[in-house]
Amino acid sequence: MEQVCPLCNAMQTVAEECPYCGNNIVDGGSLNNYLGPYSPYMEAKSLPLQPEGYCVHLVYCPECQYDARLAVALVTI
Ligand SMILES: [Zn+2]
Ligand SMILES: [Zn+2]
Repeated sequence: MEQVCPLCNAMQTVAEECPYCGNNIVDGGSLNNYLGPYSPYMEAKSLPLQPEGYCVHLVYCPECQYDARLAVALVTI
């Protein structure tokens, strides 16, 4: 049994609409990819909190550049 993020593993897509223009929001990837432990720009203590059982993704609207963070519940496989 393993807990994985359905978005990171392409099991699921973002099913959210942009609150501004109604366009489909797309996945920009896990925040871990932006602010991972090897990022030169962030110190460990300033990393965003990844809540237990969730993978936080950066999602954005390709139409109006709205972006948000989305906590995706991990699934057990
Ligand atoms: Zn993920
Ligand atoms: Zn939009």
